[in-house]
Amino acid sequence: MKTTHSNSRRNFMKFVGVSSLVAVTPGMAADTTTPHVVVVGGGFSGATCAKYLKMWAGSSVKVTIIEANQTYSSPILSNLVLNGQKTTPPSFTYGDLSSKYGINMIYSTVNSVDKATQTLALANGSSVKYDKLVLASGIDFIQVNEYEFTKVPHAWKAGEQVNLLKTQIDLMGTDSVFTMTIPPKPYRCPPGPYERACVVADYLRNVKKLTNCTINVLDANSDIIVEADTFHEKFKGYNINYIPNATVTAVNDSTKTLTYTVPGDNEPISLPSTVLNVIPKQKAAPIVFTAGVNDGNWAPVNPLSYESTVASGIYIIGDSQGTGQPKAGHIGNSEAKVCADAILRTLNGVALYTSPKTNSACYSPTSRTEASWLTAVYEYDSTKKDMVIVGGKLTAGPSTASDYTKMFLWSENLFSDTFA
Ligand SMILES: Cc1cc2nc3c(=O)[nH]c(=O)nc-3n(C[C@H](O)[C@H](O)[C@H](O)COP(=O)(O)OP(=O)(O)OC[C@H]3O[C@@H](n4cnc5c(N)ncnc54)[C@H](O)[C@@H]3O)c2cc1C
Repeated sequence: MKTTHSNSRRNFMKFVGVSSLVAVTPGMAADTTTPHVVVVGGGFSGATCAKYLKMWAGSSVKVTIIEANQTYSSPILSNLVLNGQKTTPPSFTYGDLSSKYGINMIYSTVNSVDKATQTLALANGSSVKYDKLVLASGIDFIQVNEYEFTKVPHAWKAGEQVNLLKTQIDLMGTDSVFTMTIPPKPYRCPPGPYERACVVADYLRNVKKLTNCTINVLDANSDIIVEADTFHEKFKGYNINYIPNATVTAVNDSTKTLTYTVPGDNEPISLPSTVLNVIPKQKAAPIVFTAGVNDGNWAPVNPLSYESTVASGIYIIGDSQGTGQPKAGHIGNSEAKVCADAILRTLNGVALYTSPKTNSACYSPTSRTEASWLTAVYEYDSTKKDMVIVGGKLTAGPSTASDYTKMFLWSENLFSDTFA
């Protein structure tokens, strides 16, 4: 994360040749001509992009974040609410971004994008014009049928959903059944569902002492997609019933019954449960579709800039973007810096940096005291025109108490680099 920041900044500063952009951006200093970059979404990718645009360009660029909520609730570490290690997920407000960097905050939902007039229509009735638009709006869900998330929580966006799932888990008694499902990849945070299965199982077996309860994990994928050795071993230890290749075909929120199929079985299987945690299949946030910058479920972008390959002047970062990089907060923070650098270069008529690197890192708690972790470094491959893995720690190894402690150091660093 830091490497990308310093690389990007070094290369950007190299072309402007001084430490402050304000003095070297003719045509960008006067108020009437100052370019306006609007970022939709103040999560890990959007907040970082806005912050680095202002850090690198100062008053030569006007930056606005339009965010639906005044407080951001982090999905990262949110599983620790389920096992009682935290009372709420880490949460952040935008005061620092406004006061330290001069970012303009608007709290509303963007309902539509008029690409011809470069104007956004907001739920609060106002409209906002942009010169460059960054969509950093996260994910949306594809439900297999209509059912209420208040009865069958996904808890894959943090906040109220996580509290709901926690309440349901706490009501479980002897002989009850916890069933969770994992969607087909790509989805937000590849190790996240397996991590959740572990922390919930540890909580049910070792804190609530429900040795007789059943824990089912139905995976749409053919095997655990990341840290397979680590999670398989943990699943065995927790006596988790792991079912790969499971396609969810129906969810009944009144009876808490899940119906699914597995290859080779002609008949769908019904699984009544006490607590049902369906993590649905995922796609880019609704505004990506409204703006018409999707291709299928995600937004195709040029990884040198994160500019849409469908519409110029619109950039998509974080979970909504459609490169092969994982959908995760740490790499969203990294993509945001590449994007901020590319926007400033473009506004200044300077060529894009041709070898951007990004970095992902995921720490997975597997109990109340242990965690495992992975990291990957990506670099642009000009032949493939895509980001490819060039290094990292690609095998997790066993969960340890030491990595559990490091998880909080890593997350604090990411949180402050994004929101402070
Ligand atoms: C249990 C769990 C564990 C995880 N652990 C890790 C981990 O260890 N490491 C890691 O890197 N990642 C992890 N992640 C993944 C990480 O949380 C997400 O990938 C990250 O939050 C995505 O960032 P984003 O900026 O793309 O979207 P988000 O963080 O979802 O932010 C999007 C923002 O846009 C706003 N928004 C959306 N549409 C609009 C609109 N139309 N108008 C205004 N505002 C809008 C939303 O309100 C939201 O605040 C984990 C996720 C989960 C669920």
